[in-house]
Amino acid sequence: MLKKIVNEAFCTVRITTTGPLLVKSGHASVSGPDMTPVLTNRGGKQEVFIPGSSLKGVFRSHIEKIVCSLKSQVVCYPFELNSREMRESISDMTQLQNDYRESCGGIFNQYARKGEENRRTLEDRTDLVYAASCPTCRLFGSTAFIGRVAISDAYLVSQEARELRDGVGIDRLTGGASHGAKFDLQVVSEGVAFETTIHLRNFEIWQLGMLFIVLQDMEHELIRLGSGRSRGLGQVKAEISLKETAGRPGGFVTSTIRKSGEPDNELWGLGRWLNNSPEEDRYGTQYSDFLTLQGKIVRTDRGIRAMRAFIGDDLAHLRDASVENFVNRMQSWTGRYARTFLPSAVRR
Ligand SMILES: [Zn+2]
Repeated sequence: MLKKIVNEAFCTVRITTTGPLLVKSGHASVSGPDMTPVLTNRGGKQEVFIPGSSLKGVFRSHIEKIVCSLKSQVVCYPFELNSREMRESISDMTQLQNDYRESCGGIFNQYARKGEENRRTLEDRTDLVYAASCPTCRLFGSTAFIGRVAISDAYLVSQEARELRDGVGIDRLTGGASHGAKFDLQVVSEGVAFETTIHLRNFEIWQLGMLFIVLQDMEHELIRLGSGRSRGLGQVKAEISLKETAGRPGGFVTSTIRKSGEPDNELWGLGRWLNNSPEEDRYGTQYSDFLTLQGKIVRTDRGIRAMRAFIGDDLAHLRDASVENFVNRMQSWTGRYARTFLPSAVRR
């Protein structure tokens, strides 16, 4: 990880169920206690929540498909195909290899296994690991890199409502295969709201675009959450909260350390920040990594940070400009960093 903070972005996202949501589940054939939402003790009572890790997983796999549609061989498949069984379990291996790069985590693990010196390189040179990582691993992380986004557990912000659904009935409704067995599913009802906080640190502009695509697709109810998605469960709608939270203004907030030198009408990504310093280019970022903002967004000092809150038209402009930056960056992604970037790189 970079030993300093050049920029950050925050937002609170309100997720409202627009259909029954099954948060945690075992296999489709299993019924009983495993098929209940994840519960936690909060204020002395049992309450349902959505784990941040499961939100992160859903966001990641959504983005993988999108990047793959823009350009193949850019993102990696996030698991290591290190056994014959695993390779054989994939029905169309050729298609997978055409669409996706080899797992970044897999490449790093392989590199680390070659000896102590390599292992130390991976630990000490996060700049190289970052540069060698594919776009989704740069944002969401891999076995060798923690990633730049943190997503908190989503807790209830409305009345909770849970109900039992007849699992077989749901199968019948959605035309899915019914296994004949009668089982009940405990689900969160429609109209229940949760809130999660998303925090990006040392982001590149295209990573904002990546995040905005997920948020916009959630706003349009195109991303389902939880288990039983093939049964028609997990329909949700999301929006960025405009409420002030934890001393932070509402909307989409970007921040830098005060008096950082970023012009008022620009938003700088990691690449633009790094290229003013000796770290130049080691992270595989670009000097052109910045946006010109539509208008002047007033900065508010909060402690050591200077924050800018984007709402309304400013938010829409920021979103569209970052998404465009993301599309261009993905389509021009070369992937040249993958193996060759590491010292005495591992070869096939
Ligand atoms: Zn990767």
